[in-house]
Amino acid sequence: MKIETLAVHAGAGADPVTGSIAPPIHLSTTFEHGPATEEIHGYIYVRDKNPTQDRLEAAMSALEGGESALAFSSGMGATAAFFQSLVPGSHVILPEDVYVHVRDLASKYFANWQIECSTVDTQSPAAIAAAMRPNTKAIWGETPSNPQMKIMDIAEAAKIAHGGGAALVVDNTFATPALQRPLELGADVAMHSTTKYCGGHSDVQGGCLVFRQRAPLYEKVLDARTILGAVCSPFNSWLILRGLRTLPCRMEKHSANAMAVAKALSQVKAIERVFYPGLTSHPGHEIAAAQMKQFGGMMSILVRGGWEEAVRAVSRVKVFRAATSLGGVESLIEHRASAEGKGSTSPKNLLRLSIGLEHPDDLIGDLLQALG
Ligand SMILES: *Cc1c(COP(=O)(O)O)cnc(C)c1O
Repeated sequence: MKIETLAVHAGAGADPVTGSIAPPIHLSTTFEHGPATEEIHGYIYVRDKNPTQDRLEAAMSALEGGESALAFSSGMGATAAFFQSLVPGSHVILPEDVYVHVRDLASKYFANWQIECSTVDTQSPAAIAAAMRPNTKAIWGETPSNPQMKIMDIAEAAKIAHGGGAALVVDNTFATPALQRPLELGADVAMHSTTKYCGGHSDVQGGCLVFRQRAPLYEKVLDARTILGAVCSPFNSWLILRGLRTLPCRMEKHSANAMAVAKALSQVKAIERVFYPGLTSHPGHEIAAAQMKQFGGMMSILVRGGWEEAVRAVSRVKVFRAATSLGGVESLIEHRASAEGKGSTSPKNLLRLSIGLEHPDDLIGDLLQALG
């Protein structure tokens, strides 16, 4: 089945009790069991699993083409559970331009968990291969990356990972399964901050890991989620599920709008660089074109000048909103170095743009006046 159809129907079976077409939200934390705790209705306690979260997991698995999925309370909850499921003494590879709090997770917690870590430029398969060690258990990729929009060749990274007995995890938050399907390209796990495009309306936090196979790796992460507790609440599961229904539709429009904005900004003197993988000038364009259906709604720009000129542009927008996060219907703009704070690796004049569903002419006009 095509992804548009899956997005509407996966995990959307009618409620067996009432026949309701919209899924029910089961808020119950506990479910009736037998006298010796026998599972009667398929559920025992909300932290283990619950019916609304099951529907979300079924939908995420179908969209990514995986065998199973685990929903979490946030993208970071999903990320932390993955790393906590590794045995002490494991080595992992992270991208240089990785989501800022994954970098924090590595610097603040990996030592406690006895995880060794190398940071490499994942745009280069040779650099990834060179960082492999006998105890490398995971390569963590992020493509396109946040915020510099760097592209990793997923199929190449998968070959390197599997050649060394490691798993490849791809943070697919920016692309979403509507535009890029890492598991089909050989990745073992697709990770999402469902807070972003999957939810799609800036009103719910969640995370998800989708597994190519229901294998020991899945079992270990399930155990980590159950014990450590970063589950998705029934209400949040329901909201994310609702967002997924329109995901392919929204991603088409986000992509078309972003392409129009990127092309227009490429002509602007006040801008030094536009990082959007849809532009042929982007260093990762060819790989992105091969592994993505369209190029998504995220981009970043370098404003000519420095920190001050970039912040000044943000202070002048009228349609864009100055806010962090991404993937909602409204366009957002953010000066990434100030958002990331101490230890930020983003250029001082970089602005990250989440292109929403407004008319592109209004977005372009707003940016031109803000940069003028
Ligand atoms: C937001 C984000 C995360 C973290 O997700 P939360 O839901 O905020 O915990 C991870 N990776 C990327 C690429 C993100 O944009």
